[in-house]
Amino acid sequence: MMLSVEDLRVYFSSPRGDVKALDGVDLQVSEGEVVGLAGESGCGKSTLSLAISRLIYPPGRIESGKILFQGNDILKMGPNEFRAGYRWKKIAMIFQGSMNGFTPVFTIGEQIEEVLEIHQYAGDFASRTKDLMKMVELDPVIAERYPHELSGGQKQRAFIAMALAVDPPFLIADEPTTALDVVTQVNIMNLLKRLRKEKGISILIITHDLALLSEIVDRAYILYAGRMAELGTAEQIFKEPKHPYTQGLIGSIPTLQSTKIEGIAGFMPDLANLPPGCKFAQRCPYAMQVCGKEEPLLKETKEGQRVACWLY
Ligand code: SF4
Repeated sequence: MMLSVEDLRVYFSSPRGDVKALDGVDLQVSEGEVVGLAGESGCGKSTLSLAISRLIYPPGRIESGKILFQGNDILKMGPNEFRAGYRWKKIAMIFQGSMNGFTPVFTIGEQIEEVLEIHQYAGDFASRTKDLMKMVELDPVIAERYPHELSGGQKQRAFIAMALAVDPPFLIADEPTTALDVVTQVNIMNLLKRLRKEKGISILIITHDLALLSEIVDRAYILYAGRMAELGTAEQIFKEPKHPYTQGLIGSIPTLQSTKIEGIAGFMPDLANLPPGCKFAQRCPYAMQVCGKEEPLLKETKEGQRVACWLY
């Protein structure tokens, strides 16, 4: 197993008490697998990616749980051990809005070479940079340009090249297509698909865009209010969603056949003051008496598909 997150709880201190961004989350990614993590804004998706990258800082804290990467619990490592042996070398990350993270006063090539230097790449920096540019389907001459000379799509490809600089086996892509036009979004997803096929890397894609996710992932997890609502294969999640929340998310995707978008009424509960029982109950059209009292646990409904809902 490449990554195994077990019963992870991440809380943020606030004057109103602990904000429970993640409250007992499990997630697995196998070698060479592309896994999606989806849910509305504020459901805890990015908190999970930051926890895997060991980037939770006060007022946030890891309350409990394990994050096993290739069998080693990265939460037990000292910061130097993680920085030297794991961050970027084994776990690379494309952050939300990362294409705007390039330093404006250095060329793209200089910034990629800095990564190679920090991570002690053994080969020639210039030829590695050229190869990386080709890998993400950019003309190597772009490495000589400054970030402001690139389009959004080119900057995102250049950032993916930088993330893959030292051949990490695992990539986290947090909203990798945000702020890009629809055609460029599809191109970036196709690029990730190709890189997975050619390099065999495992990818965790985090997004609120289920339509894009359905194009690329092997399996998907649906997160709601810091808890997993459902998980399953791409086919199970996108064609036979079981949880009313997943059904609502799928119903919110516009299609060519219909202009009617169902949407999900209401808002996610306050994470500092969560209600008892199912956290989706106030928005769920199928809510029953038990839903407001007892929290449902994930239960297998089909091989590979697990749902946290009293309907099953
Ligand atoms: Fe709806 Fe109840 Fe299922 Fe929650 S447990 S999603 S409220 S039916």
